[in-house]
Amino acid sequence: MTSRRDFLKTSAGVSVGAAVGMGSPRSLAGAPAVLRSRITPVAIASGNGMEAVATAFQAVSAGDDTLDAAVKGVNIVERDPNDRSVGYGGRPNLDGVVQLDSSVMHGPSRGAGAVACLEGIKTPSRVAVDVMRYTDHVLLVGKGAQRFAVSMGHKVEDLLTDATRRQWIEWRARMSATDDYLTREEAGTGADPFEDGEDEGLGMLDSHDGVRPQGTINCNVINQDGDLSGVTTTSGLAWKIPGRVGDSPIVGAGLYVDNDVGACGSTGRGEAVIKTCGSHSVVELMRSGMSPVDACLEALRRVVTFTAEARLRDGQGRPNYNVNYYAVNKDGEYGGAAIWSGARFAVCTGGESRREDSAYLFERGS
Ligand code: ASP
Repeated sequence: MTSRRDFLKTSAGVSVGAAVGMGSPRSLAGAPAVLRSRITPVAIASGNGMEAVATAFQAVSAGDDTLDAAVKGVNIVERDPNDRSVGYGGRPNLDGVVQLDSSVMHGPSRGAGAVACLEGIKTPSRVAVDVMRYTDHVLLVGKGAQRFAVSMGHKVEDLLTDATRRQWIEWRARMSATDDYLTREEAGTGADPFEDGEDEGLGMLDSHDGVRPQGTINCNVINQDGDLSGVTTTSGLAWKIPGRVGDSPIVGAGLYVDNDVGACGSTGRGEAVIKTCGSHSVVELMRSGMSPVDACLEALRRVVTFTAEARLRDGQGRPNYNVNYYAVNKDGEYGGAAIWSGARFAVCTGGESRREDSAYLFERGS
């Protein structure tokens, strides 16, 4: 008699490889697990997630749960003081305080958890997991989120580094010519307010677009049985108004996972993603049969349509900001897309992780 395990083993050889990358046939969403063949696990993340996807892939290949694997991956970036967009070392808000946002979704159990405006905890994704697992709630914010984190054993630490404090001090001084804060030039000495010898210049006050720096990590993982999970974690928009919440901790905006269909997460201008229910839209478009890349592009067209404010449009009426989506479907097909060309995402399907080009709506410089 053929056991279920033998059946899966036999069918694995047929489908592995075919199920990876673009263009393989989709199976019916929600088909019973026994009819599914095994697929090659995939970990996909934003471009800053090279180590994260390698770690997540290894973990899921060793049998870890997909959410544990994804969170293990992003924890590396959350703890890295040199990534200025996530966790420890993330850029602070207008008051010089680092406020973090994160959400997680666990496909098999249909679980979701999130925290917003969380201060002092290096790994907000782990607090989001605790919200999902150990409370009857989905989203905790601010002081309440911190109190909950402490009650679960998380340590409160100073998340500002000298480098991010330096940037914030200079940004504060540049805000207005009529207040009493002096920029380095106005101070006359060009002096660095710190003496640790690690001044790396102030280039990061603006991104290459001339807009305020942003950044986030999203990571989505599928295992060989087709189970999916995702996590998004960020320090959000630099110098934001205290209390501002971006898309990252909003289920359906910065992250969405439906274990029958796929997973998606976002980085970029959170306000635009929230207004269009971005990641949920991508998953719904995949449900209707679109490939991950096509679904991401279609959701980005909605972002463009929703960009009604003249201040957010360039001379040709296109958004003057970027949004990125990263998606994987139930068959392990994956892809990323952005409004503007030049974006890349990190992915691991075995061996070394790699960066791939995101699809896009508009060519930079066009
Ligand atoms: N999406 C994040 C936010 O709006 C920032 C980013 O990804 O750049 O908070």
